[in-house]
This record gives sequence, structure tokens and C-alpha cells, in this order.
Amino acid sequence: MKAQDQSTYDVIISGAGPVGLFLACELALAKCSVLILEKAEAPNTPLKQLPFGIRGLSAPTIEALYRRGLLEQLEVHKRIKNPHLHAKEGAQRQVGHFAGIPFLEGNVDTSQWEYRLPGSPATSLISEMQELETVFARRAESLGVEIKRGLAITGFQQNADEVTVEAGHQSFKAKWLVGCDGSRSVVRKLGGFEFAGTEPEFTGYTTRIDIADPEKLKPGRNVTERGMYMQSQPGYVVIQDFDGGAFHSSDKPITLEHVQEVLRRVSGTDVTINALHTATTWTDRARQATTYRNGKILLAGDAAHIHSPLGGQGLNLGLGDAMNLGWKLAATIREEAPEGLLDSYYTERYPIGTQVLDWSRAQVAIMKPDPGARALNAVIRDLINTRDGATYFAGRVWGIHTHYRLNGNHPLTGHSVPNFEFEDGSAIGELMHDGKGILLDFDGNDSLKTFATEYSSQISYISGSAKEQLGLSALLIRPDGIIAWASDKSFDLNGLEEAAARWFVINSKSI
Ligand SMILES: Cc1cc2nc3c(=O)[nH]c(=O)nc-3n(C[C@H](O)[C@H](O)[C@H](O)COP(=O)(O)OP(=O)(O)OC[C@H]3O[C@@H](n4cnc5c(N)ncnc54)[C@H](O)[C@@H]3O)c2cc1C
Repeated sequence: MKAQDQSTYDVIISGAGPVGLFLACELALAKCSVLILEKAEAPNTPLKQLPFGIRGLSAPTIEALYRRGLLEQLEVHKRIKNPHLHAKEGAQRQVGHFAGIPFLEGNVDTSQWEYRLPGSPATSLISEMQELETVFARRAESLGVEIKRGLAITGFQQNADEVTVEAGHQSFKAKWLVGCDGSRSVVRKLGGFEFAGTEPEFTGYTTRIDIADPEKLKPGRNVTERGMYMQSQPGYVVIQDFDGGAFHSSDKPITLEHVQEVLRRVSGTDVTINALHTATTWTDRARQATTYRNGKILLAGDAAHIHSPLGGQGLNLGLGDAMNLGWKLAATIREEAPEGLLDSYYTERYPIGTQVLDWSRAQVAIMKPDPGARALNAVIRDLINTRDGATYFAGRVWGIHTHYRLNGNHPLTGHSVPNFEFEDGSAIGELMHDGKGILLDFDGNDSLKTFATEYSSQISYISGSAKEQLGLSALLIRPDGIIAWASDKSFDLNGLEEAAARWFVINSKSI
């Protein structure tokens, strides 16, 4: 083993995927020292490049990026002239799907989402993994994060104070280790985490191939009696073969002959493949770590939960973990965390993960090539074509309804803060770049201003009227944009005091 790196970092993150990088940004923003150890020598492996690297971003992710000033750095965002949802434009445009059944933009009734303000960022965007990782890595490094590539974590030991991590015959020390090392996470496996869930129904294939007779395949997504195939653009074919996940679990190589046999069987054609350029397999195995923390070891992203990519939620789920964990772990490290703050990472994120796993299982259940599944599929198809149905599915797929069950009487408690726009044209999301909590006071109340000074190291006080205030007078917003307390016109200071004490500590060192 080489001479040790003597620094003790606040946090070592295993994996420079999108979740590890975004978490590193959140921690560094909160003044923590962070080292990322990444197995791959270079960023941007072929499967993260287009078109394999295309990922759908949902509302909570888009809001998180917007609140940290990262959204405008994405080309995909710049390409969209007006990212807000306009039902009148392209009413027949497909804006999402459930088990391959599309829902149309014109059917989604956004007026049912009463707290979504017109100035909110988009509800869904198509992004590129490669670009996301480039933007996150640039941001992380600008905040002082060290990224060491070509170093796979192979082991670690923890005691009450620190974790010693081994990677590439070197060792590194940190107060905390977070496993963001993907679905086959070494941190999860060596950290003694139970990974409970369900076995797969199918093997999925993502391929780039030359097809001799492409006209034999229908365009778009096709659910067949044997599975599903989809040609997103010429030569890029995704297949789902209901083999119980057998091929993915085998050590067999993905050959041209095998892909051709599967594609012929699933599509019910005699299509011929001339060349196989790239191929990878995946499954709908759905598993979730039963706890996200073991001592000084934490998990986030695919390391904590895996499921099929149907409906594309894994990245969103993982970035949601990072947004939730970052400020809580940072406050814990700075000794500015109230009792139980870090535990709330698991209590808030585990149920969200479970919902996503079930959403993916429900889709697989109605895609199976059997009569019962086909019958259920027809019922869902009818429902999704109704206005309420499309609105429900859009709300779930875009994460509009994602919220945490927090104490508090106001219906907005636990929800993402609406993007209030102020008279000067600024919006609340743009005031969250520094990662601090916010006490937002629409009415300029002196008692709130005084209250906020007690927490000034963790909470900024913002006063001013908004164009649309939704009947509210004041809100306490956590660093992740979640409303901890909200009040209509007559507010009780006790509720605010309780909420503030739950998430923040009164100034200790900083003032
Ligand atoms: C075909 C497909 C389509 C998808 N579409 C969508 C979509 O539209 N929307 C969506 O939200 N999600 C989608 N997903 C899921 C999404 O890609 C993942 O959930 C997301 O990449 C998880 O990010 P992560 O950072 O947790 O893990 P990863 O992206 O897997 O990154 C983990 C990193 O850890 C590194 N690593 C692994 N082991 C070690 C080690 N021992 N030491 C150090 N580093 C290590 C890896 O090299 C990698 O860089 C899709 C997935 C697939 C397969």
C-alpha cells in the first residue's frame, strides 16, 4: 500500500456519477471538504453518451438544479425557449408514458396543481448524462472538491470518529463515507447493508446496431406478445425480453446472433442485423437498502435503490437523495444539526424510494406477455386518455406530488416551495444559490425579522411582497427548498419556533 494521503476529509464519496457529483457540490457549498474516488479512468463512458445517455428530468430535479444556478448551464435548458408547460401548444404531443402508454400534453390539466405558479421551472426536461456530469464536475471542482479518477474503492473500516478507505493501493481518511457507486455498490456490499426487494421479470437490451431491413420494425415503442421493442432513432434499439432476467444474470457475451434472435422473437419479425456496435443489458430487479446509514457510512442514488428504468426515475430519485442529504450531513459535520437531523434523511427518502420501486413494478406488471396483464393494460390505456387520468399520471411521472410528511398544520408543509416571483422580477428559487434556509416574510413583520437573526448562520431573512402569494404571509424554507412551516394571514410564532428548532440550531459559533 502506498504512503497514505494524510488529509482527513469531511466526506469521501465513492463514485463520480451524477449523484456523487451533485452531493459533493451540496456538501462543498456548505463548506465541507470532499474527496470523490471514481473507479473509471475517464468520465463519459460510451453508455453515458448520446443516445444511450438521454435521461428525463422531473420537476423536483429541475427545481433543485434551478435553485443552485445549474439549470441555465445545461444546453438542453437553453434550447427550450419557454420551458413552462403550455397546454395549447402541441396539445397532441406525448409528454410522458406509463408502461409505454403515452399521455398527451393537451390532456394534462395543470390547473389542478394549485400551488404551481406560472413562473416555475419546467415540469420535465430531456437531459444528457454526459452533460449533467460535466456541469456537476465543473461546479464541484470550482467549489474545491477533489476528484480522483481511476481509483476504485475496494475496502474500508470505520470507528466512532472516522472511516479509512482503501482504493488503488492507497488509503484515505474521512469523517464520513457516502456510497454513490451505483447499482453494484461496493460500499453497500461491504458496509453490511441489507438490499431487499424483488427479482426481475425481464432482461432489457440497449443496443446500437445496423439493420439490413429496418422497415420490418415499427417505429416508436411497441409492446408485443413477447415483450417490448423500441427504435428511438435508426439503429438504436431497446428490447425487453421477459426471460425472468436470465440472460442479464448469465455470464454470456452479448453477441450479434443473440441480439438478433431476441429481437426477432420479441418483434415477431425475421429482421436481420448486419452489425452490433454497442450493447448493454439491464433488468427490472427492484431492490432497496433497508437502511441508508450504518454508523459513518451512508448510501445515495442507485447504491441505495435499483429498479427498471421504465418511466425514467432512477436519476431523479438519486439527485433527490443528494439534495436531501447534503445540507443535513454538512450541518452534522459542522456540529450545527439538531437531534435527529441526519436520521431524517432515511425517514424522508426511504418512502419516496419505495414509491418509485412500486411505480416501476406496476409498469412491468401490465407489460407482461400474458392475458391478465393485457387486460389491465387496456384499462390503464382508457384511464390515461381521460383528462383526470393524464393529469394523475403526469403528476406522478413528473414528481409534482413528491413531498415529505413533516409536522405542521399548513397543507404546504413538506412540499417544495412554489417559485414566488417578487415585484423586482427575481424569484425565490434564484435566492437559494447559497444553500441556506430562508425565512420568507411577505408582510415585513418585525417579530419575524428578529426571530431570523437568532438563526442567521443557517437562515436568511427575505422580506417583500410577491406577485402571487397564494394567501400566505410567511414561510420557513429548508436549504433543499422544502417548506418546513407556512402561515396564512394570522400566524402563530410557536409553530415557527418548533419548525426552526426541528431543522436548524440557534447561532452557536458563527455570529
Ligand atoms: C437504459 C437506462 C435508461 C435510464 N433512463 C433514465 C431516465 O430517463 N431518468 C432517470 O431519472 N433515470 C434513468 N435511468 C437511471 C439512471 O441512469 C441511474 O439511476 C443514475 O445513473 C444513477 O446515478 P448514480 O450516480 O447513483 O449511479 P451511476 O450513474 O451508476 O454512477 C456510479 C459511479 O460510481 C462508480 N463506481 C462504481 N463502483 C465504484 C467503486 N468501487 N469505487 C469508486 N467508484 C465506483 C462508477 O464508475 C460510476 O461512475 C436509466 C437507466 C438506464 C440503464
